[in-house]
Amino acid sequence: MADFECEKCKKIIDLDIFLKNFKVCPNCNYHYSLNSEERIKLIADEGSFNEIAANIKSIDFLNFTDSKPYKERIIESQKKSGISEAIITGYAKTGGFNIALGVMDFNFMGGSMGSVVGERIKLLADLSIEKKVPLILICSSGGARMQEGIVSLMQMAKTVSAINKVKENKILYISVITNPTTGGVSASFATIADIIIAEPQALFCFAGPRVVKQTIKKELPSDFGLSERNLRNGQIDLIVNRKDLKEKIINILKLFLN
Ligand SMILES: [Zn+2]
Repeated sequence: MADFECEKCKKIIDLDIFLKNFKVCPNCNYHYSLNSEERIKLIADEGSFNEIAANIKSIDFLNFTDSKPYKERIIESQKKSGISEAIITGYAKTGGFNIALGVMDFNFMGGSMGSVVGERIKLLADLSIEKKVPLILICSSGGARMQEGIVSLMQMAKTVSAINKVKENKILYISVITNPTTGGVSASFATIADIIIAEPQALFCFAGPRVVKQTIKKELPSDFGLSERNLRNGQIDLIVNRKDLKEKIINILKLFLN
């Protein structure tokens, strides 16, 4: 990979600077997407992440086929993304604090929430209660896993109820919204955190601007669903640049835990 043109501001970006800048355009501050491995590196102290629930993997219980069988899609996604599902969960440290950390990965079927995403979040929530450590979920999702039908939609209720138990135990839950976070994830666990942090210019909404525009047949504001507008409207609590994200989370943990 060589130097390239920023898809947002069209300036040429030096690849070395881009990578040192955590894949953020040094010119316009556009935050490019990170995979789950990069996210874990960004948030967790080095070598501290221990994955849980890795053995829980999707199966094609509906025998579902769209343009290709779901079974094949799962295998292809695993090969393409190098991970087993659209969320990786584990026990980790950040700034020395123990945390239960879940990181969604858009590279796995668009970060869609199927039964395994729901179950892994549920087990992570249980872990945070058992160990009495804060729960942090990094969100990135196109919404429901259509190939799992209604079972996919049920994950909204399941994750919310698992996180409500975290709240009943007075344990801190932080969600981090990255571009894009939409559909069932935005309508469930992403939105019910004690503190909702978003990266700059991240799309965070239920239906995306194109669908809403088609439905209501009106022009939408140019910043529809973006972090800056969501902050003004009270949908999120703060916008944090990626380079400051770990430090900001640690500061919040200090505030709540000390
Ligand atoms: Zn740019």
